Amino acid sequence: MTTTLLPGSTIGIFGNGQLGRMIALAAKPLGYRVHVFGPEAGSPAAQVADAESVARYDDRGAVERFASSCDVITLEFENIPVSAVHWAEAITPVRPGSNVLEVTQHRVREKSLCVDLEVPVPSFAAIESFEELRQALRGVGVPAVLKTATLGYDGKGQARIATAHDAAKAWDAIGARAAILEAFVPFVSEISIVAARGLDGSFRHWGVIENVHTSHILDTSVAPASVSDQTADHAVEIARQILEHLGVVGVMCVEMFLCSDGAILVNELAPRVHNSGHLTIEASPTSQFEQQVRAVCGLPLGDSSIRPAAMANLLGDLWANGQPAWEKALGGDAVKLHLYGKSEARAGRKMGHLTALGATTDEALRRVVSARNMLRKA
Ligand code: AMP
Repeated sequence: MTTTLLPGSTIGIFGNGQLGRMIALAAKPLGYRVHVFGPEAGSPAAQVADAESVARYDDRGAVERFASSCDVITLEFENIPVSAVHWAEAITPVRPGSNVLEVTQHRVREKSLCVDLEVPVPSFAAIESFEELRQALRGVGVPAVLKTATLGYDGKGQARIATAHDAAKAWDAIGARAAILEAFVPFVSEISIVAARGLDGSFRHWGVIENVHTSHILDTSVAPASVSDQTADHAVEIARQILEHLGVVGVMCVEMFLCSDGAILVNELAPRVHNSGHLTIEASPTSQFEQQVRAVCGLPLGDSSIRPAAMANLLGDLWANGQPAWEKALGGDAVKLHLYGKSEARAGRKMGHLTALGATTDEALRRVVSARNMLRKA
């Protein structure tokens, strides 16, 4: 039996960045109250929420008070300490739950789960010491990528190993700690499936999204990706299997590499709404953020059909010469601006994004990239 949390209920969000902000913005028209929890005041999510708890995740009293004030809790990033989620789960449902985080917070567990499900991943080895790294390089081969087992994102905690001589430098670069060594994949493209699983086990997705990263940070996403129906079905099936197996309630992103022989290898799982799904706000009747709200509240999942769209991230670098030229970029009807309310623009920091629709994905991509170019001040 599923219990629906009706509008008027309070949704708690662990984490208070832009993803929490966009979940909150989707929850409000549906009539929900939103309470966000995070360590800094005045955060992107708190600016649009009904209530804010400013506390650390190891402050058990604060976590318990927060949980007591919420009918359900969700999260906007996967590195919420599992202890905090356990404290909250003892009081109110947390969706997705600690069982999902325990896997997705650890790259070795994540890849091992894929192996158990017979979902292809790059060849990899778990590394606990420099000696293990040297040995593993013989099996995995070069080039390879060494990544910290925990707390890595946007390429942080990663080092490329071109030849076995780079091993010591790479081991130092990631802080000489538990890691995963992965074969470097010469992919033709990076794709993601953003999918949702409801409380009743229903499953929805927005098809294949194609992503381009620059310096390990997502730069642009387009949907629907130009892949064969067979590739699309295969990618969706992989995502379905993973969400099903983990019993996810909410949105999850499965990031994958597409290889020249058509093989799909899973790179990473994010048990939350995802940057590559931002374009669903304009491109689909149900955005990933509304779907997250529907899923965690036990409502039916919404229509996730999608129109050609493209998204371009706006990083802090654009602010190098002051405020970007917003008025120039917003001239085209098809371009929408989303800013996250961050006061300090640092290089590489995600400050906002632009989305454009088009008759084709190529047209949408041209529009969004040209709008972003117009933002740059000489
Ligand atoms: P991650 O934090 O694991 O998502 O990695 C960030 C980005 O680094 C990915 O989106 C890829 O562009 C690149 N990358 C990560 N792992 C590999 C790999 N095994 N082979 C090739 N590129 C990789």
